[in-house]
Amino acid sequence: MRAKLKRLSIWDHDDMCLSADVEKLEAENAQLKAQCDLWNKKYTDLMQSLEYAAITNSELNELRAENARLTDSLQWEQNRADRIGTHGDGCWKWGPSHYECALREIGRLKTGGGE
Ligand SMILES: [Zn+2]
Repeated sequence: MRAKLKRLSIWDHDDMCLSADVEKLEAENAQLKAQCDLWNKKYTDLMQSLEYAAITNSELNELRAENARLTDSLQWEQNRADRIGTHGDGCWKWGPSHYECALREIGRLKTGGGE
């Protein structure tokens, strides 16, 4: 009976120590889970930012290409409007009104003339 009581008290002691350890581990676990959630959120935010940046970059490239195309068209139109009837160095590039100039340029290149 005495031995049984002693054994019981040892078990109680072990249980108390164990439950203290379990509480400590549960607290650590909760802390780690909170940290993990935070990192997961940061990771998700970062991935979204990267995705957004990729979309923005591809849209930006499309707009740059469109801008270059429009600039070329505008230059062509301006040259056509401004230089009709006027000729100059490289005017064969200015548009349809310099078709004859372009033919002359082709002839010049074919005969090996350089600029
Ligand atoms: Zn011309």
